[in-house]
Amino acid sequence: MESAHQRAETLRALLARYDYEYYVLDAPSVPDAEYDRLFRELDALERAEPALASPDSPTRRVGGAPSGAFAQVRHPVPMLSLSNAFDDDEVLAVARRVRERLVEDGLAQIELRYCAELKYDGVAVSLRYERGAFVRGATRGDGATGEDVTANLRTVRAIPLRLRGVEPEVLEVRGEVLMFRRDFERLNERQRAAGEKEFVNPRNAAAGSLRQLDPALTAARPLRFFAYGVGAAAATALPATHSGLLDWLAGAGLPVGPERTVANGPQELLAFYRRMQARRAQLAYDIDGVVYKVDRRDWHDAIGFVARAPRFAIAHKFPAEEALTELLDIEIQVGRTGKLTPVARLRPVFVGGVTVASATLHNEDEIARKGLLIGDTVVVRRAGDVIPEIVRALPERRGEPPPRRAFAMPSACPVCGSAVAREDGEADWRCVGGLYCAAQRKQALLHFAQRRAMDIDGLGEKLVDQLVDEGLVRTPADLYRLDVATLAALERMGGKSAANLVEAIGRSKRASFARFLFALGIRHVGEEVARVLAQRYRDPESLMAEDWDALAASKAALQKENAQRRARGEAPRPVPLEGIGPEIVASLRRFFGEPHNREVLAALRAAGIEWVRDDEPAGAALAGRTFVVTGTLPTMSREQAHELIRRHGGDVAGSVSRRTDFVVAGEAAGSKLERARELGVAVIDESALIGLAQGGGPARDTRTEKES
Ligand code: NAD
Repeated sequence: MESAHQRAETLRALLARYDYEYYVLDAPSVPDAEYDRLFRELDALERAEPALASPDSPTRRVGGAPSGAFAQVRHPVPMLSLSNAFDDDEVLAVARRVRERLVEDGLAQIELRYCAELKYDGVAVSLRYERGAFVRGATRGDGATGEDVTANLRTVRAIPLRLRGVEPEVLEVRGEVLMFRRDFERLNERQRAAGEKEFVNPRNAAAGSLRQLDPALTAARPLRFFAYGVGAAAATALPATHSGLLDWLAGAGLPVGPERTVANGPQELLAFYRRMQARRAQLAYDIDGVVYKVDRRDWHDAIGFVARAPRFAIAHKFPAEEALTELLDIEIQVGRTGKLTPVARLRPVFVGGVTVASATLHNEDEIARKGLLIGDTVVVRRAGDVIPEIVRALPERRGEPPPRRAFAMPSACPVCGSAVAREDGEADWRCVGGLYCAAQRKQALLHFAQRRAMDIDGLGEKLVDQLVDEGLVRTPADLYRLDVATLAALERMGGKSAANLVEAIGRSKRASFARFLFALGIRHVGEEVARVLAQRYRDPESLMAEDWDALAASKAALQKENAQRRARGEAPRPVPLEGIGPEIVASLRRFFGEPHNREVLAALRAAGIEWVRDDEPAGAALAGRTFVVTGTLPTMSREQAHELIRRHGGDVAGSVSRRTDFVVAGEAAGSKLERARELGVAVIDESALIGLAQGGGPARDTRTEKES
């Protein structure tokens, strides 16, 4: 066991290193929450054992020493840090102590008034104005001495070079230089494009930009400024309250954050905290908490200071948005569409106000880009309601056990064992066992049953959920084994709807091959591609038997020949599978090459699926006539009726007009039927439609009298 003394030494050394990285290099290696955790541990050790304290402890100091790169500026009034409170109780305790102190001095009122404002997450600077003109600007440095960054600050447009309407002998304005989040993202995009190092966060981008040796570089960076106080002031009467001072600064032309209020007592402070916490994600810039300051400035000295911070002010911090934890493993989740997503399993960590135990890693490239190894210490970020993400790993911690291990994408789907594939130009791997994979079951069934596919009326999302969850259906082929009794036993399923569904499933056995192909949910095979394929193939077997390489070669030869024909002014010859490119072919080969899919296809065939050809028109008996189908037809679904009309040369319309030739009405036809009667359009039933299509007159014409 480390002794308390050793632990304090370890902590001081670590914090000194983090201070250096943060204040001097503008490149922290750990999140602020990690720094704060170690800081508080050291503070507690030093408090419990005062002998452990050392004057150079980070708990006694402000910031880091100013770097030698800039001239030094002594602050006539020190630039301090702020004491932190991390929860309501700490705020209440501090407020109580402040009041007690003032009571002792005979100053306190019943309720102490505070000014509450935002705690901007940027870099503290002091701007010196003499007789209204900006003469010098400095960083906080170690609080007593900062760096002279006057030339750089002159390039920040939010900083006035002259005060408005006032010319105090001396006025030091204290405030924060920061970068808006969108500006930060754009800057990092530019850095990326230029092959330069990206900044970790807006604060460090602001600090790094402000501390450039060449002011022209600073000028190119989108820096902003908010004022929140004053340092030295001479020959000027400043307002008696801090809230008044902020208004006064705003009047003098300095940017002051609009989110501020005067609060009576600690409960109103806590209310402000919660309001701002809710607004945090919508602000254009980062804040890491709110700051409460006793509003009466003439009491500040009486309340006094601790080593590194005033007692009259306190920073109430928000839950950290970044934290350190361990990447325990990377697992694969298979989505409803077969996409394989790597998901990080994390040692649970409290971040952004919730406990986070997992984070999506999107795809394998993301893992490679971030250089993550399983077992790494990682920075996890959760800001606002955004899903948690792993920002980066801390490779310098890799020396520690346990051993690290690289992640590899599995070669088979972890859910169903089918092959996985990553297509050219795509970031994701996908399971190709779409018809079989349990992860894709519900999606596959819904796609299969949809109106534009197999058109199984009544098989909606809720029902698919039940069928799959109860283990009744695993693949589309299982649908054809369902009977009325099984279905009627399901929740919210009456005998009538069960019977209707069984009938709808039965009807779907006769589908065009194009619809069937589309229904299989093969990647890149939409309705149009399926239609083109169905012109060449009659069934899955003929498609699977295709010699794709030979086909590609003959297509290429034909295309070449056509180019010559066109040059000679001759008509080109038709190219087979026009528009079906290599990407689609590869997808077809993968799908039909997967044995699991072929099993399901065989089962569908065994269930009695047969394909009606729809590549050539079946006739032209309906040519030139426009039909509207409405109501429930006795044997055909609406889609099948449309198909029949189109295959016989007719047109289908969605609404009844004077140009409609026939309305095909089934049971429970409503407004369209009425409209047909109003306009005197011929109304026929399903069998009449079939008769017409076969070239006969309507078997039964229910034409209204007005028409005839
Ligand atoms: P701080 O940031 O917690 O608070 C003090 C500072 O708040 C002031 O100096 C001022 O710049 C700023 N501030 C913003 N809005 C203000 C307002 N309205 N009124 C007054 N001041 C306002 O303390 P700090 O001393 O600047 O820095 C310490 C913190 O920096 C640590 O708590 C840690 O979070 C972070 N840090 C991180 C690392 C790291 O490695 N990640 C290293 C060092 C420090």
